[in-house]
Amino acid sequence: MSTVLVIGAGGVSSVCVHKMGMNAGIFSDIHLASRTKSKSDAIAASVKERTGQNVATYEIDAEEVPAMVNLIRKVQPSLVVNLALPYQDLPIMDACLETGVHYLDTANYEPKDEAKFEYHWQWAYHDRFKEAGIMALLGSGFDPGVTSVFTMWLKKHKLKTIRQLDILDCNGGDHGQAFATNFNPEINIREITANARHWENGEFVETPALSTKVEFDFDQVGPKNMYMMYHEELESLSKFIPELERARFWMTFGDEYIKHLTVLQNVGMTGIEPIKYQGQDIIPLQFLAAVLPKPETLGETTTGNTNIGVIATGEALDGSGEKTFYINNICSHEAAFEETGNQGVSYTTGVPAMIGSAMMLSGTWAGANGQGGVFNMEQMNPDPFMEMLNEHGLPWQVKELGSPVSF
Ligand code: NDP
Repeated sequence: MSTVLVIGAGGVSSVCVHKMGMNAGIFSDIHLASRTKSKSDAIAASVKERTGQNVATYEIDAEEVPAMVNLIRKVQPSLVVNLALPYQDLPIMDACLETGVHYLDTANYEPKDEAKFEYHWQWAYHDRFKEAGIMALLGSGFDPGVTSVFTMWLKKHKLKTIRQLDILDCNGGDHGQAFATNFNPEINIREITANARHWENGEFVETPALSTKVEFDFDQVGPKNMYMMYHEELESLSKFIPELERARFWMTFGDEYIKHLTVLQNVGMTGIEPIKYQGQDIIPLQFLAAVLPKPETLGETTTGNTNIGVIATGEALDGSGEKTFYINNICSHEAAFEETGNQGVSYTTGVPAMIGSAMMLSGTWAGANGQGGVFNMEQMNPDPFMEMLNEHGLPWQVKELGSPVSF
């Protein structure tokens, strides 16, 4: 029985709050605050209709630390779940420190003026969180999040060491729009247009954005082109699995998506430097995000599956030599929509955010022996989280492959 305060009212938040509503034994008192109150109210109304649970709503600018502190003092939650944008991570962590409340998010901090997502800003809070006796859990979405838990589960149950790791993120869904992103367009396009980086022999190797392409046949989706990208869990995985020789992240994009993105980039619409327009400073990417379809509106028309997982090669735990395992989840957009009114990408992020919250509220994940601090998913016992994935809509399967990946 606990009180939780969720910040942000987009697609990911909507799924997470619905799932909290379905698990009233863990989340007995749910509060939801965001910049636009009407969006929180719409989620609360849907949760009430679908689950019978009440959700209290508030308006907040999470970048205003004193306002966040006041809200936390008023609500008195055991945990603040940050499902707004990465820009708000640090102010929300500051407010949690000031009020002594645990913190969870799904994406690492990024400064607004530079597309540079790295953990060091948040890792720098470790000692202060430890002194305050509170825990921060970073990146409890699917990727980052479940991909790290999958990897650590393989390391606990199948492989003594992991030499090579590939994370494969396929969205095989079709939303029927010429161009749209499945989560916040600004964050999504900043991520995709950044240079690719992968881990190789102890350092990150940088290559131009979307310059490495491989075709892969995804179960229950079919063959898709996937592109090597940088993704934040490569930083934490390479830190917590020191023997890793190579770690890469791949995401699928259709030819239409790449064509639109290339044109938008070529004409300067993905830029993050302000330009003057009719006497006003505007950021082209923010303007583009404002005209693109909102991720939370895509659910109704999206069909098909997501298929996200990891392929790891290393020395088998049972001493049988080198082995390769593939562990993944397949999620149906239509089923996600029927259950929560949101598409699969919001679903695959919102469910792990609920599960990470449950892990913290139950004390199952309590950092280092209950002491406070800032933690990544790799530092936690994967087993109880993996059990909850199976129980709460994201079942997974693991299979042995005949050889390491050939790409
Ligand atoms: P949306 O853009 O749909 O929602 C973001 C919400 O945050 C909106 O309701 C927005 O308010 C609110 N918000 C923005 N700024 C503030 C602020 N200053 N104060 C209060 N609220 C604010 O995004 P998504 O739901 O698609 O994504 C949410 C988060 O999940 C992002 O950080 C994203 O990076 C992360 N994510 C993580 C994934 C993972 O697997 N780990 C995958 C997908 C997403 P308003 O409605 O007014 O715009």
